[in-house]
Amino acid sequence: MGDFPIDLAEVYGPAVAAKRFAKGALKAWFPSNSILITTPEAKVLVDPGDSAKLAASMDPRPDPRRFRPVPLVSQLAEVGVAPSEVTHVVVTHLHFDHFAGVTAGKGGRWAAVYPKARHIIPKRDWDMPDIAEGRKKGDKDIEGTLEVIEKAGLVDLVDGRVQVAHGLAVEPYPGESPGHQVLALSAGGSRVYCIGDLFHIVQEVEHPGLAAVWTDRKTLAASQRRFASTASNEGALVLSGHMQPGFISLSRGRRSWRPAEGQPGTSI
Ligand SMILES: [Zn+2]
Repeated sequence: MGDFPIDLAEVYGPAVAAKRFAKGALKAWFPSNSILITTPEAKVLVDPGDSAKLAASMDPRPDPRRFRPVPLVSQLAEVGVAPSEVTHVVVTHLHFDHFAGVTAGKGGRWAAVYPKARHIIPKRDWDMPDIAEGRKKGDKDIEGTLEVIEKAGLVDLVDGRVQVAHGLAVEPYPGESPGHQVLALSAGGSRVYCIGDLFHIVQEVEHPGLAAVWTDRKTLAASQRRFASTASNEGALVLSGHMQPGFISLSRGRRSWRPAEGQPGTSI
């Protein structure tokens, strides 16, 4: 959907960021990825963001010379998929960059973009105080997205491991948020995981303990350990919200990241 700017001092706290990253690298641009999985019986879209909506809620607004969001529906059209064909929308966690694109519209009139899709959302995130409060207070970002799909009867709140379609299941990996989940795909002996923000950047894979300020650090560390060991054993392809595709390997207790072939990798 296009890269958007992030201040690493805000993500990790000024002291940690100053120690870990070069001064000139603190203002970074992150990719924001949505993933489409097509099987014979389902078209599953993971984390439909909307970089333009996200930018509207940013202060300061991103530099327009660098910020060139590409609408997700245009990208789907390029691969011949109409929004009405999407059967499932999987939201890994309820942070705005991962669900802003569930609706579209103007002037307060919002409509579901994927009107035939079940929207699989972690119940523990739906119940988070900031989401519950936001819904009560009429927060415009929530009113224009979650409220709309809920009223349309499109939301399935899940807790725990749930099969989404043949070969596809969501599994909880909490820490980034209380209900953060990963979508696991099994196909012909291969495994692919859509991990949302279980790891935001390569440094989080390779330096356990580096975690965003909003996370539940202990819970996240346990989820990351569990995932790294599983993905490493399986040789699984890992698709994340803000990194390029790659593989995690665990060797003598050390985690490392290898970009998938043809990918530049994400380094900051
Ligand atoms: Zn994110």
